[in-house]
Amino acid sequence: MRRFLLAVALAALPCSPALAQPRIDYSKLEIKTTDLGHGVYFLGWQGGDSLVLVGDEGILLVDTSVAQMGDKIKAAIARISDKPIRFVINTHAHADHFGANELMAKGGAVIVGHEKLRERMAKGQYLAAFKQTIPPSPPAALPTITYADTMTIHFDGETVRLFHAPRAHTDNDTLVYFKRANVIHASGTFGGDRSYPFFDMSSGGSLAGLIDAEEKMLSLSDDKTRIIADEGDPGSTEGLKASHDMLVTLRARIQKLIDEGKSEDQVVSDKPTKDLDARWVQPGTPLTGDFFTRLAYQSLKDVRRPTRR
Ligand SMILES: [Zn+2]
Repeated sequence: MRRFLLAVALAALPCSPALAQPRIDYSKLEIKTTDLGHGVYFLGWQGGDSLVLVGDEGILLVDTSVAQMGDKIKAAIARISDKPIRFVINTHAHADHFGANELMAKGGAVIVGHEKLRERMAKGQYLAAFKQTIPPSPPAALPTITYADTMTIHFDGETVRLFHAPRAHTDNDTLVYFKRANVIHASGTFGGDRSYPFFDMSSGGSLAGLIDAEEKMLSLSDDKTRIIADEGDPGSTEGLKASHDMLVTLRARIQKLIDEGKSEDQVVSDKPTKDLDARWVQPGTPLTGDFFTRLAYQSLKDVRRPTRR
């Protein structure tokens, strides 16, 4: 029952429960472009934010948003450069990250993603966490290049490293690291400097995998790294470190309560997030401390041996 309630709370949200609007009017959304240096630009809208790398030979784009935003993404890129979009990387198979793939592929872009992302897109998905059915994607929208563990793309002087983060936000997350620009796209594995991250267990996500993903990103970061969260402005290494430490603390607290034999409702009423909510809960978001406690409880009960890198 609780799982059902959890699912209803997330109904119709494209990627993160922080996106509480049941129906988004995409025609009214504007894309905010931020120059992150070394040819890398951040395109922010409302969830599923994109990154653009501009080089002499063309554009590399991370995430294509929902289908309705495709033309706006292209227009935002055209304001930066008149070069063609040559590569698209999809960070994970939630609909607000690959929706405009077909449009980009028809323009000549090569699509890259984790092999499990391609599988999920090809088959279609039912995301219980969102009560959302995603139909199979047309062949033109699927990645033509997939990888299993890591991959490197050398593009106009930038080294773009792709790392699979197993069982994190989903089972098909790619962390994208722009080495020269010192920017990481976290897929959905980081909620930003002031928000609990979300993981989708119906897509194979887990708390343990989320912590592993944040550790991986910390290993790549220095104090100037910008980390692109699931939505909102780019986060900082300090924020990522704090998020990681918060997750480790909560995992230990909730596991202890589970080991004491407490039920999900008992664990929630013990308020293990009480001293953390002031920093990590955004006003108005459904991603509250109680909500996160339920997610963490369910994950720790279900995933006893998380897949490790
Ligand atoms: Zn997502």
